[in-house]
Amino acid sequence: MPSEQQLSDVLSEFARTLVTDFPIQAILDHLVKRIVDVMPISGAGVTLISPGTDPRYVAASNDAALHFEQLQSELGEGPCLQAYSTGEAVAIADLSTDPRFPTFSRRAAADGLAAAFTFPLRDGSQRLGALDLYRDTPGPLDARAMAAAQTLADVAAAYLQNAQARTDLQNASARSLQTSLHDGLTGLANRELLLERLEHAVIRSHRSGRMVAVLFADLDRFKLVNDLHGHTVGDELLVAISRRLTTILREEDTLARMSGDEFVILCEELESRTPVEAIAARVAKAFERPFQLSRCEVTIRASIGVAYSSGDDRGPEALLQDADAAMYQVKRQGGGKHGVLDLREQTIAINRGHLERDARGAAARGELHAEYQPIVDLHDGRVIGMEALLRWDHPTRGLVLPSTAIPLAERSDAIGEIGQWMIERGCIDLQHWHDDLNPLMMTVNVSAHELMSLEYPGLVAGLLAATHTDPRLLTLEMTETAFVQDSERAAVVLNELKEIGVGLALDDFGTGYSSLTYLKRYPIDMVKIDREFVIDMEHDPVSLAIVAALIDLAHALSMTVVAEGVETPAQRDHLAALGCDHCQGYYFARPMTVDDIDLVMGPDPAQTRLPALHGFRSPR
Ligand code: C2E
Ligand code: CA
Ligand code: CA
Repeated sequence: MPSEQQLSDVLSEFARTLVTDFPIQAILDHLVKRIVDVMPISGAGVTLISPGTDPRYVAASNDAALHFEQLQSELGEGPCLQAYSTGEAVAIADLSTDPRFPTFSRRAAADGLAAAFTFPLRDGSQRLGALDLYRDTPGPLDARAMAAAQTLADVAAAYLQNAQARTDLQNASARSLQTSLHDGLTGLANRELLLERLEHAVIRSHRSGRMVAVLFADLDRFKLVNDLHGHTVGDELLVAISRRLTTILREEDTLARMSGDEFVILCEELESRTPVEAIAARVAKAFERPFQLSRCEVTIRASIGVAYSSGDDRGPEALLQDADAAMYQVKRQGGGKHGVLDLREQTIAINRGHLERDARGAAARGELHAEYQPIVDLHDGRVIGMEALLRWDHPTRGLVLPSTAIPLAERSDAIGEIGQWMIERGCIDLQHWHDDLNPLMMTVNVSAHELMSLEYPGLVAGLLAATHTDPRLLTLEMTETAFVQDSERAAVVLNELKEIGVGLALDDFGTGYSSLTYLKRYPIDMVKIDREFVIDMEHDPVSLAIVAALIDLAHALSMTVVAEGVETPAQRDHLAALGCDHCQGYYFARPMTVDDIDLVMGPDPAQTRLPALHGFRSPR
């Protein structure tokens, strides 16, 4: 039976296989080899099953295991296929008495197999294949060993998805031609088909002058359904939702499943917004009644955002992004409620053109300010740094949050001036707090757009010199978007920044493609684990295992790990137990203005231990 230590060792090893850019086959080979070392079994095998024409990857720890894998494929019968199709583990403690797979059992027993335990490789609603553990003596595996094996299978599946995402990215153009246009689970239009229809709809609307609307619905806490009831129920729920939504649409609308738990409705040829408002209300209402599934009843809510095309030249992707941003704002406001983006926000989306224009020159007009969120050392609660967060006080719209401001600043090229303003402001405010003995670190977010410019390192050096700031006190936070866009150029810019002496942090780790390979390829000093992972970690052993492996790996590469969005003492304790270095989140402090920080922490935040009061709020 594996000890906790062995299990965690195996998990960290998986993380390392990714760093060395292992392909899928290598991950599988590694899985079967290591699992035999830590479990009371005589062999292990994996088969990956993909519904399309893709190859089936098979790996086995020895010839006998390979033979049993192939036997199952050949017969089309056995625990592997059952685990794959049901998403549940299958245990055959004694092949000679178990009636379920007669042909496989008879032939495998003749070749010396006595017991088999099979675990699905699954990731969200996706099924990838199954892991088989084989034994030459009969008897059950105890509950802990079964749970450990499933955890290993889940972690392997998460990494396989990651490797698959990398491959997909590489083959994206080749593949996009072949992707089918419908979602396999619900039969709805998929992302590709939706984008195609949206593109045509936008072109038609230019001719006809009629509007196009996009409704973006994202289920709240869908993950919890999967965790509580299993993925089979999660899948069933998605199908039930797609059926219910289909019934409330008009003939000419398109309903699509974008990914996981995201649905989009496209409405075209609109004379006014009235029909869309009616549909949005019906969608919201559709989630008020519980969904009757085969084994249980599930109540779930959704956050809904709406965006309208306004006759400008913006492409379909931009419209989708607006609807997504609108949905996100609903989620932020409601958190667990459902609702439609209110009209004021809609106006913001519609008038985004104006806001884009307004973003230019906002820095020069004095409309920007910064808030700072303390970064806290997990061991002693000491404030070791501040993250600078942009706030834009729009003269007529009031406060515009960065989730809205940054994307539109990127589109209007105002991002350059805003980014520079933030660095300058951060450096000046850093001096305000300066303590020679315990200098604070200032972290500033940088958009991928800025990083892509070869002049950027020179600009940063100039700002540091102008504000007399020690480069070692500044850390730039960036997401992996920059690396995905142009990895060669990113490497050049990052290496130059490194030469100047500033620190580099990888932000929002755990979202997007999250390839651990970036950590090794670029000169990164710090990894920030995304809030979603911190939330999931508490109820999802797989997220927990990945966070543990990530911390371990980052340390092996001499990087610091910061966890974001820590809201509870339980999360803090978990992270401390895993050896995480620093934390940030409402539990310690919300983002605050310099004046507010002075008020609650005094002139020297480096002397403050948080949480002094639980997650103190901005006093305003
Ligand atoms: P981020 O870099 O991940 O920043 C953390 C965000 O999480 C901030 O939102 C912060 O207020 C919020 N947050 C911190 N602790 C907690 C918590 O415990 N719970 C919850 N629910 N949220 C927490 P904010 O200020 O709205 O910023 C959003 C994003 O906008 C940032 O995400 C960053 O990506 C971007 N951003 C902010 N300022 C700038 C900037 O100056 N330049 C660029 N390029 N991007 C910026
Ligand atoms: Ca950040
Ligand atoms: Ca972040």
